[in-house]
Amino acid sequence: MMKWDGHTHTQFCYHGNDAPLEKYVEQAIALGFTRYSVTEHPPIPVGWVNNESLFQELAMPEQELEQYFAYVQQVKLKYQDQIEVTIGLELDYLHGRTDYTDELISKWGHLLEDVVYSVHYLPGRDGMYCVDFTAEDFTKNLLQYYGSMDTLIDIYFDHVELAIEHASRLSMRKRIGHLNLITKFAHKLPPVSEPLMRERLEQLLPLLLESGVGVDINVAGLRVATCEQAYVPSWFITKATELGIECVYGSDAHKPEQVGLFWDWYEQNMS
Ligand SMILES: [Zn+2]
Ligand SMILES: [Zn+2]
Repeated sequence: MMKWDGHTHTQFCYHGNDAPLEKYVEQAIALGFTRYSVTEHPPIPVGWVNNESLFQELAMPEQELEQYFAYVQQVKLKYQDQIEVTIGLELDYLHGRTDYTDELISKWGHLLEDVVYSVHYLPGRDGMYCVDFTAEDFTKNLLQYYGSMDTLIDIYFDHVELAIEHASRLSMRKRIGHLNLITKFAHKLPPVSEPLMRERLEQLLPLLLESGVGVDINVAGLRVATCEQAYVPSWFITKATELGIECVYGSDAHKPEQVGLFWDWYEQNMS
């Protein structure tokens, strides 16, 4: 099995860390990784969320994207004899604004080797809200708006299905990001129906198979105190792997020391 971290961030993420990308890559080399995908959050439309200070933290401004690609390219070349660094983005499924992503791809798609395609935003109280910001924000603007966790779970997976459909149109390697991100604050929220979760996840398998979209086996939830679970359940990894759907480890590192965390968990689940 190739030791590959398929989902990582850089100093171009303003809710992360300002350590240079070199530090992340050197950590990956030290841990024996042979491929390392840099998948930063791309810009999002101005005013996408109402909370202005949050907006500033979510993604780089549009004018930085060119600099980001040049920088990753430079790091890729610098370490090419030690590790394969691939250039990527963690694209957002922008409900109602997929034209924004299409435009971004038409401009920059030729540089992209890896895409993680993620659902971070859902329509809520009076606009778009992050499913992964805080439990308080989630409760006030999403849970109370939809009325129950189960309704919210259904809406979330409807969006994941749309994200898979959009991702399927991309020509580079692509994976659906952290499938169960909606469970990030599970310990602080009302319980969700496990049969419903399982049903909605199972329904994704044929879609993934047909579309050629892989799965980001995102372990970041294991380091979140309110979650303590990977964002893809073990049983799903087993089924997806049996079907031949690509399942790629993703540390979702937002700081260098997070690179490679819980690789053992991934390896055990893949064997
Ligand atoms: Zn991030
Ligand atoms: Zn993400």
